[in-house]
Amino acid sequence: MVIYEKAPAKINLTLDVLHKRNDGYHEVEMLMTTIDLADRLSFEKLDSNQVVIASENRFVPNDRRNLAYQAATLIKERYNIKEGVRIHLDKKIPVAAGLAGGSSDAAATLRGVSRLFGLQLSQEELQEIGAEIGSDVPFCVMGGTALATGRGEKLTPLPSPPPCWVVLAKPNIGVSTKDVYSKVQFDDMRHPATKEAISALKQQDFKTLCTTLGNVLEPITTSMHPEVLQIKSRMEKTGGDGVLMSGSGPTVFSLVAKEEKADRIYNSLRGFCSEVYAVRMLR
Ligand code: ATP
Repeated sequence: MVIYEKAPAKINLTLDVLHKRNDGYHEVEMLMTTIDLADRLSFEKLDSNQVVIASENRFVPNDRRNLAYQAATLIKERYNIKEGVRIHLDKKIPVAAGLAGGSSDAAATLRGVSRLFGLQLSQEELQEIGAEIGSDVPFCVMGGTALATGRGEKLTPLPSPPPCWVVLAKPNIGVSTKDVYSKVQFDDMRHPATKEAISALKQQDFKTLCTTLGNVLEPITTSMHPEVLQIKSRMEKTGGDGVLMSGSGPTVFSLVAKEEKADRIYNSLRGFCSEVYAVRMLR
């Protein structure tokens, strides 16, 4: 039997860092939402007690460094499963892009392995296991839109943004999240208007939502990679309603209300940038 799970990417509508904690993690406050750009994972039982990862993407490791491998191993150990699993990753989410591709694959693996072995785990149980793999995994288990606090694992569900297009462009560089966080400085930090963004979501006010987008990691990544700023300004000039870098970058996205405008931005970025997508927001 083969079963399938979809692993959607996320974007950050806001990303704020409040302080550095004693345990070394940063205390964050982030509004995250899933978009219709997803990896597709398949799961098949193996007789031997192994976790085998297969993917055609040369940037994705097929060993224990893969977050899907870690998720499958953790759940097998916890529930004492002696059979193995072969996981195939059909990667569509750009890698090391600020779109939580690896975390979403881990979340999809928790769901898939739980289903494959009939574990009947609740979403809360999957989120709890997910938090051991990475801070973004619990959100990816939940999907939709949420405020994430703590190190990202404490979630408050929120209404998703009003229906719109999301145009994404990733310059041909990879960014290490760890590296960007290590450069965070709190002096002169311009915090995003998270509260206003939350009320814009609650009121389904697209215009205000677009003006409240903000990410404290953006100046750090753009100082290392000026290409990110060039993409931002191109998106702004071609009419993006709200433009922001997602996560630690380097992907930049634009929220766009009208399809024709999304087409225009998409076309203006193709050729300028190797990875460009125009997708719908997931409700
Ligand atoms: P985040 O926004 O959560 O920091 P990201 O979107 O910036 O994540 P990922 O695509 O998750 O970045 O990849 C970061 C690194 O993780 C990659 O360079 C890759 O080596 C490793 N990795 C581990 N598992 C996966 C996976 N399933 N898919 C992609 N990359 C993975």
